[in-house]
Amino acid sequence: MKIMVAVKRVIDYAVKIRVKSDKTGVETTNVKMSMNPFCEIALEEALRIKESGFASEVIVVSMGPAQSVDTLRTGLAMGADRAIHVDAPATLYPLSVAKILKVLVDIEKPGLLILGKQAIDDDCNQTGQMVAGLLKWPQGTFASKVVLDKEKQVATVDREVDGGLETLCLDLPAVITTDLRLNQPRYATLPNIMKAKSKPIKKVTPQELNVEINSDLEIVHVTEPPKRKAGVILSSVDELVDKLKNEAHVI
Ligand code: AMP
Repeated sequence: MKIMVAVKRVIDYAVKIRVKSDKTGVETTNVKMSMNPFCEIALEEALRIKESGFASEVIVVSMGPAQSVDTLRTGLAMGADRAIHVDAPATLYPLSVAKILKVLVDIEKPGLLILGKQAIDDDCNQTGQMVAGLLKWPQGTFASKVVLDKEKQVATVDREVDGGLETLCLDLPAVITTDLRLNQPRYATLPNIMKAKSKPIKKVTPQELNVEINSDLEIVHVTEPPKRKAGVILSSVDELVDKLKNEAHVI
């Protein structure tokens, strides 16, 4: 069985985001970019499944401009076998990503498609659900545990939901999206970084895949959140209760 993993190049989680002066988006020039943290978890899970003998190959896919290849190289250095770069604009919306993934799945026929539960740049949390819909595959989103049964060809997925944990049993092939507690992704070792340089990266365009990438969405403007006001130190519980009642109006 093959496993396909979608990995997105995003602004590194530790970078302080700056909004562009014309409010059209956030500044990405000279900003450190990395693999989306939830995608690292998705890839780690795929690698563990391969190491357990359940899968034969892990393919990483990224869509975006030429620099997305750096993200794919990171994925190959972590242990993926090969990569597909879909040469596309940086601002791709989830439905376009889902349509492209569907075509790639139709070509590669993986038994599992694993994505991050969300990309930390757009926080959409839509792509996994959309591609599962397009493929008509079962989906286990926000996975915190994945157990595969080779004989029955099913995946048992624990999902983190508001009220606790929900356990689903999915027939393969299936889509899984990963939550934070699923695993701790590995670091790429130096020898593996060197090996990754000779692993294959195939480049395709959305046109070659017959996918139109226009969107019905338009970003009107992007603004910074309001600055947090300085706090105050209160001298008594009575004063706190008074402020909560008469200023914050929360009790
Ligand atoms: P989103 O729905 O935008 O929050 O993204 C959820 C997941 O979809 C990400 O964690 C990735 O696994 C995948 N994804 C979204 N955009 C891309 C992209 N441009 N390239 C590869 N994977 C992507």
